[in-house]
Amino acid sequence: MELLADCVDSFAYQLLFNAFAFVLGAAVGSFLNVCIYRLPRELSVNRPRRSFCPVCKQPIPWQQNLPLISWLVLRGRCANCGGKIAFRYLVVELVSALLFLAIWQSFPWQIAITYWVFVSLVIVGTFVDLEHFIIPNQVTIGGIAAGVLASFAVPELMGSDSRIAAVVRSVLAAALGYLTLLFVLEAGKVAFGKKRIRLDAPAPFTWTRQGDDAEFVVGSERSLWSDYFAREKDQLLLRCDEAKIDHRSFGNTTLDFHYDRVAVEGEVIALDEVAQISGVVRELQIPREAMGRGDLKFLAAIGAFLGWRAVLFSIFAGSLLGSLVGLVTLLVGKRVWSAKLPFGPYLAFGAVSWMFFGETFLRWYLGLLNPH
Ligand SMILES: [Zn+2]
Repeated sequence: MELLADCVDSFAYQLLFNAFAFVLGAAVGSFLNVCIYRLPRELSVNRPRRSFCPVCKQPIPWQQNLPLISWLVLRGRCANCGGKIAFRYLVVELVSALLFLAIWQSFPWQIAITYWVFVSLVIVGTFVDLEHFIIPNQVTIGGIAAGVLASFAVPELMGSDSRIAAVVRSVLAAALGYLTLLFVLEAGKVAFGKKRIRLDAPAPFTWTRQGDDAEFVVGSERSLWSDYFAREKDQLLLRCDEAKIDHRSFGNTTLDFHYDRVAVEGEVIALDEVAQISGVVRELQIPREAMGRGDLKFLAAIGAFLGWRAVLFSIFAGSLLGSLVGLVTLLVGKRVWSAKLPFGPYLAFGAVSWMFFGETFLRWYLGLLNPH
């Protein structure tokens, strides 16, 4: 009888702790939503203290700001103005709650707490990157610092029992993350083409709309317009001897392209309204630096928390998922310029997969290498 009572007790305890982890995750998710909205807009995350409706800017009373429940009860609308509250708010709260619970169930409590901090940073980084194509420094640089601190506090994170060794490993893994991705991106740049291409002789070019994309031909080089743009801020400069945008002609001029628009002589024209651009180009310039170093610092933060193997795995798993998504969007024919996803969310996917399944994956992989 006593044994049974003990069992019921421990079951009740577990249930209580699991419920606590889930609710804590949802509440943290609610705060992460505030960060996702405010960080890229450079608003303070604690002032104003109270959440406000993004449409009518009215403060939201606490009873309408309960994680998960409020969104569902109000069906994603502001109680004051009826404005739409993005589905993202519900998704972030639910994902946070589920990850907090899964972490609690999978790891000893000291590690679980550091992983809670880690997934919070990853969630903010992912959703800001999806909406704004940047990852805020609070997440990346803050994440590196938090990861090194966490490794000092819980050396088991780095598979060590010495605090000093754990800190060194964490810092090295962060450096590895930054440098590996830097190398991959630079190598990609070389494979992709030089940043500044001065043509031997001025060459004719045409830009012809094709559905959601466009065909871009310089001399005899044929390419897809969308291949030139990975990020919203990417630019392409064409220095032309002459240019023609639909029926308008320009002399010696520079066309300054973004994926969706072209600026010429102080005027901005949306590419949606253009059928054809042609002319003679003498230099093509791709200022890639506009890309920012967000991804690199993000992977460094992943390394600082999860170690060097997680760095390599995140690149591997992220690229794999990226190619799959690219293939699927290509197959269903939804290849829109702006639909190109940033790399941050893929890295996040790789990191979280590693957190839960890294050990299993390694064992499986080593088994493949040494079959008995
Ligand atoms: Zn409102």
